[in-house]
Amino acid sequence: MMENCIGCLIPLQNVAGFFSTTEELSNNTFLCNSCGVKAHDVLNIMNIPHTGLLQKYSSFQVQELLAKGILFEKFHYQLVEKYYILLSQNSAIKKLFNAFWDDESIVHASNAGYNNNFGILLATDRRLMFMGADAKINLPEIIDYNEIISIDLIESMNEIKVATSENTFSFSDVLSEPEKCLAKIERQIDFIKDKKPTEAHPIQNNNEPSLFDILERLGGFRQNGLITDEEFTGQKKKILERL
Ligand SMILES: [Zn+2]
Repeated sequence: MMENCIGCLIPLQNVAGFFSTTEELSNNTFLCNSCGVKAHDVLNIMNIPHTGLLQKYSSFQVQELLAKGILFEKFHYQLVEKYYILLSQNSAIKKLFNAFWDDESIVHASNAGYNNNFGILLATDRRLMFMGADAKINLPEIIDYNEIISIDLIESMNEIKVATSENTFSFSDVLSEPEKCLAKIERQIDFIKDKKPTEAHPIQNNNEPSLFDILERLGGFRQNGLITDEEFTGQKKKILERL
């Protein structure tokens, strides 16, 4: 009988005729070796206790785990490759990932200090988080942008100071582009505040027409005899040069 792995869909019987499945799942489906390892890794990252066997999980649950694993790889890659977070902070990266929502996105990340801990300052599109690299802090500190009253950069110390109505937070030694970090957080705060339906902001309608709109209007003017063919051609040439 030929079975396919529910993770990667490869047939579980290889050419030599060995049945290579390692895991039988709760709904009589199977998982290959490498997908089994991946699913276990995700259980470890998410701190879900497990016996080493996935037999109590259904194929749907395992597929969810594998999808979560892909999100983690992307998250990890962004932090390490794009924002130069040190690999020694892997445990902090995992804890931040567990606090990170699936539909959230990273806007900035940097190694930084907080309350005498060295760790990662992560700015998402909605929240600011800090996780220490050592075990002194068990959970990430999380500040919702909605709660922020003020945010400042003390440039001489690369320190980002955040105030909420309840607390003040000082993130020191922000290593990677603190100005950029601040600007990105400020932009997200503005964006969130603008989106709030309770605050009556006039809709900022960008009335500046595109060059194509202008061309179209010029065409209309020519058709209606408001401008000559020559004028139209001259204007069109100018516009095309600006594109
Ligand atoms: Zn597989």
